[in-house]
Amino acid sequence: MSSSSNDEVAKAIDAASIAATLEDTDPATIFDKIVAGEIPCNKVYEDDIALAFRDVNPQAPVHILVIPKKRDGLTMLSKAVGSQKDVLGHLLFVAGQVGKSECPKGFRLTVNDGPDGAQSVYHLHIHIMGGRQMRWPPG
Ligand code: AMP
Repeated sequence: MSSSSNDEVAKAIDAASIAATLEDTDPATIFDKIVAGEIPCNKVYEDDIALAFRDVNPQAPVHILVIPKKRDGLTMLSKAVGSQKDVLGHLLFVAGQVGKSECPKGFRLTVNDGPDGAQSVYHLHIHIMGGRQMRWPPG
């Protein structure tokens, strides 16, 4: 495992211990602050529901995150409830459109969920990665 992979896993383990108690009333994540304009992002796409911006630590030539603008309990995919299916579908659609536009030769979507999934930010996000040949299986 590369040291950068190890760093990501360590960050995920730290974040998971915080997220174990994270409810939607808890303090804003870094992504809430991006949505609120309190910290800058390199925006790729925005509509009423979704925001897409470039990952600050890209793992591929193209690495974009798609998030719901309202966290609304969606700290992670596994916390989604039935009434959020439209939002989830919208995020996936946006990821497909942005992926097609940014990576015409193909791309990969990833959702990290929880500690074993190496999730480090507990505000749902879809990673779009492309601009190079992806390998399988991922680490
Ligand atoms: P995950 O490990 O799936 O929770 O992914 C979180 C991602 O958020 C990582 O790829 C980070 O590089 C990225 N990230 C964290 N802070 C920022 C930020 N301020 N702007 C853009 N991307 C960020």
